[in-house]
Amino acid sequence: MSQNISQEMRAMAAGLRAQLADAAEAFEQLREDWLRLNPIDILLPCPLCYAPHVDEDEWAHRPHRRHLCLQCGHEWQPANVPTRGVLHLPEEDCDVQPV
Ligand SMILES: [Zn+2]
Ligand SMILES: [Zn+2]
Repeated sequence: MSQNISQEMRAMAAGLRAQLADAAEAFEQLREDWLRLNPIDILLPCPLCYAPHVDEDEWAHRPHRRHLCLQCGHEWQPANVPTRGVLHLPEEDCDVQPV
């Protein structure tokens, strides 16, 4: 009798673990989709020539991870998620002032 119960508990725990893994996977997928559509705004100076990289026009709406400096041609990836280079961040969001 007690063995049956512990078997049931184990099966239940395994089921819960599987559900959790599914949920985590779904969440990760959702996060990736969200970030693809909503790139993170960031002050993005080129690491080589320090020219500010600003994603404008079509690039503002085409999220990308690797950015190409229009000044020196350097290509770099500042983060593991899509980012959008902006000239200014809303003041309340950031205390880093553009140089
Ligand atoms: Zn550059
Ligand atoms: Zn860019």
